[in-house]
Amino acid sequence: AHQAALAARSKDNLRSPICCILGHVDTGKTKLLDKIRQTNVQEGEAGGITQQIGATYFPVEAIKQKTAVVNQDGKFEFKVPGLLVIDTPGHESFSNLRSRGSSLCNIAILVVDIMHGLEPQTLESMKLLRDRKTPFIVALNKIDRLYGWKKVENNGFQESLALQSKGVQNEFKNRLAATKVEFAEQGFNSELFYENKSMAKFVSLVPTSAHTGEGVPDMLKLILQLTQERMVGSLMYLSEVQATVLEVKAIEGFGMTIDVILSNGILREGDRIVLCGTEGAIKTNIRALLTPAPLRELRLKSQYVHNKEVKAALGVKISAPGLDNAIAGSRLLVVGDEDEESDLEEEVESDLATLFNRVTKTGRGVSVQASTLGSLEALLDFLKESKIPVANVNIGPVYKRDVMQSGVMLEKSPDHAVMLCFDVKVDPDAQRYAEENGIKIFTAEIIYHLFDQFTAHMRQMLEKKKEDAKLLAVFPCVLNPVAVFNKVSPIVVGVDVVEGSLKVNTPIAVVKTNPNTQLKEIISLGRVTSIEREHKQIPVCKKGQPSVAVKIEMGGNQPMYGRQLEDKDVLYSLISRPSINCLKEFYRDEVTNEEWKLIMKLKPVFDIS
Ligand code: GDP
Repeated sequence: AHQAALAARSKDNLRSPICCILGHVDTGKTKLLDKIRQTNVQEGEAGGITQQIGATYFPVEAIKQKTAVVNQDGKFEFKVPGLLVIDTPGHESFSNLRSRGSSLCNIAILVVDIMHGLEPQTLESMKLLRDRKTPFIVALNKIDRLYGWKKVENNGFQESLALQSKGVQNEFKNRLAATKVEFAEQGFNSELFYENKSMAKFVSLVPTSAHTGEGVPDMLKLILQLTQERMVGSLMYLSEVQATVLEVKAIEGFGMTIDVILSNGILREGDRIVLCGTEGAIKTNIRALLTPAPLRELRLKSQYVHNKEVKAALGVKISAPGLDNAIAGSRLLVVGDEDEESDLEEEVESDLATLFNRVTKTGRGVSVQASTLGSLEALLDFLKESKIPVANVNIGPVYKRDVMQSGVMLEKSPDHAVMLCFDVKVDPDAQRYAEENGIKIFTAEIIYHLFDQFTAHMRQMLEKKKEDAKLLAVFPCVLNPVAVFNKVSPIVVGVDVVEGSLKVNTPIAVVKTNPNTQLKEIISLGRVTSIEREHKQIPVCKKGQPSVAVKIEMGGNQPMYGRQLEDKDVLYSLISRPSINCLKEFYRDEVTNEEWKLIMKLKPVFDIS
């Protein structure tokens, strides 16, 4: 029975393409997958659709049946033997289907909710698809939610649209146009699938409903069409094994197992395999090649069928000794007669090493932790683009030792004492240690969210530094005295602001030449604690505005009018090298050109070089 799982070669010697479904949460990825898996009741068992490990296999016969409504003249020619669709939608699976920087996923369906347009994970998915150069189509899903939609189950889209009222057709047109604009903003030209003249230039948009099945036949046909047009070269059947680990899972009776997508070649029981582990390369022998038992055989004692050999493309569970530290996203290599095992070891280890080596040379950066090789790579790519430096990289759950490693930054670069964790668990001990020591741990399932959390954190740190710097920052001003209301403790004077802006908290000084020594003297008066005009407190008085009464207070012995100070003395904001640096670092946006000029003018007054 399970022989169907072993994909056959087509007459053109093409193998089955591997297809992933990506998109934002709740756009209907799972429902669409369910819909294409679903059997038409009248046809009984669906022409050989087989549940595999982590994937569903659709032999070409099943696809022919499912696309019959949109291929009534039979003109569309099927060249591939079938289609392997990865069961877990989302970019986790997609990014783990990797092999030396390219993707084993041949083709993808990006699902967009027609009512919502492009959402954060849509953009992330598009970025992944673009980076990996994976051709894709867009399913504009949930068309049945267009107001007043009349459904015809499992119909071709064009026929269904023709049956709708003018109002529905208009709403559809408007939403389609809006979506095309959104795609254009992301640098993708898109076209409604039956108006698309070039699949190489335009992304095809296919309206679907996972509830009514409308547009689903078009979607399937389109995915085959795209594969056949664009990918014939890369779908040639090869005897060389190409495989990647999608998941690492403990299974009762088998211990630790790996779920593998085999995209080319043959795997056999007993094969010597090499793959990536957290503690170095894992070398072991395949003990069992497992595929799910067909439904009717579930009464048997195992839910799995043992295979002597399996052939691409398919999903298979491998049971073997020593898989405990296996990493999802790792390549799986088979040691052939000609191969030196150590060469293969080096090869898989280099996959991990390349990622671990992508840390800054400065040693100052955040720590990054992800669940799989694929997600780690995607996260590192994203951080690189966002110009966030990375100092530490790790795979798997966050333990205390990881937090301690990130804690090294507390000394070196406190802003970077941050862990960005993608789809990993944080051990409670590690969490506690982080909280006690002021290391921030951010976790998220969406890369964007990690970025948002990190930028919010950086903004907060900057605000705090600004707050701390408030007393140090001095905005420049020059004040002409008009009256002395209180000679000392506290000094209260009436002034005109003749240059710059006077702000509360500004330190004030008078600069004089000592008549006895002929030396310049800077007499500090203290800080401005209030600015008043007509008995109203104001925070700032700008050059040219009406006079204000200014209170100046000082901790120690304040100089006094009539003694060190004279009524006519010009008052200056007391600037210094540190105060200028502080403005440069934290207030650059708030200092006007005129103020920078005034600072330049005041520098010699205070002997600042
Ligand atoms: P996923 O997170 O992308 O896998 O989304 P799901 O497949 O879980 O669907 C999310 C929600 O949208 C569920 O409540 C579905 O029933 C609903 N949904 C999915 N596809 C459609 C559709 O075509 N039409 C309507 N009306 N609802 C849909």
